[in-house]
Amino acid sequence: MTLSPDLMEGAAASSGGSAPSATRGGEQKRSVEQVALLLFITVPFLALLAAVPLAWGRGVSWLDLGLMVFMYFLACHGITVGYHRYFTHGSFKAKRPLRIALAVMGSLAVEGPLVRWVADHRKHHKYSDHEGDPHSPWRFGETVPALMKGLWWAHIGWLFDEEQTDQQKYAPDLIRDPAIRRISRDFIYWTAVSLAIPPLVGGLVTMSWWGAFTAFFWGSLVRVALLHHVTWSINSICHAVGKRPFRSRDRSGNVWWLAVLSCGESWHNLHHADPTSARHGVLRGQVDSSARLIRWFELAGWATDVRWPSGARIDARRRDKSSNAA
Ligand SMILES: [Zn+2]
Ligand SMILES: [Zn+2]
Repeated sequence: MTLSPDLMEGAAASSGGSAPSATRGGEQKRSVEQVALLLFITVPFLALLAAVPLAWGRGVSWLDLGLMVFMYFLACHGITVGYHRYFTHGSFKAKRPLRIALAVMGSLAVEGPLVRWVADHRKHHKYSDHEGDPHSPWRFGETVPALMKGLWWAHIGWLFDEEQTDQQKYAPDLIRDPAIRRISRDFIYWTAVSLAIPPLVGGLVTMSWWGAFTAFFWGSLVRVALLHHVTWSINSICHAVGKRPFRSRDRSGNVWWLAVLSCGESWHNLHHADPTSARHGVLRGQVDSSARLIRWFELAGWATDVRWPSGARIDARRRDKSSNAA
């Protein structure tokens, strides 16, 4: 089986070559990695749970709120514009500085090394909701209990799977680029940077340890947890529910209430119908901040060959073609 031509060309080209690894862990996830993963998932999530009563009791300062929102959308667009639309699907070409910046921005989301993320996601598109998909909510069947189990698997469970997607097979184009390989390998350092920026700014602005602490709580922990769960919701919720106006080989749906928080990625049905499209929210009123950002990059001359969806291309993918004017 080969990758669909809609995916990055050459992604499946050279498997088993002698290219160096782009992650530190290798093909099997070791137990120390499993523990680190568990910590990076549960600690921010506990902060997210604590955030509600804390905000209720003492409120959130404008500084902490600003840091949280800024870091959230910086990392979110790093994932959506960078990891996803650019590195995974090649929906535009980027000038070298933008390519590097997107790799770093995405790494700030604490969602794993770039090359591993891309390899997993290309495999998801290759098998979407069929056997081989790393995170389909339909993995265990279609009954309600099976779907409940599947949703948990698609949201978080799959991250702990010991079997790793073959990076040489699914992301050889990225492994060949030494700078990208390095950024991917240094993922743990980018995580440290990502967690350190809010307390550094908060501490310096307020000139207090308490200010550094609250900034760390909101800008680092709560922000990471929120972005984690929004990203994972694309894998779980957006493959279980939502409108399906476009034809795709899977159960991907458009979920409107996640559009703003997911930076436009919850228009997931269109994405599976047309994976290389730079815009996912193609219908009237569908907010897609990532597409807007790509447009700005294009206007600045940093992004070229952007694959904007034409009206004809969108119409050709509609499930109900009779409702379209030609
Ligand atoms: Zn999907
Ligand atoms: Zn995708």
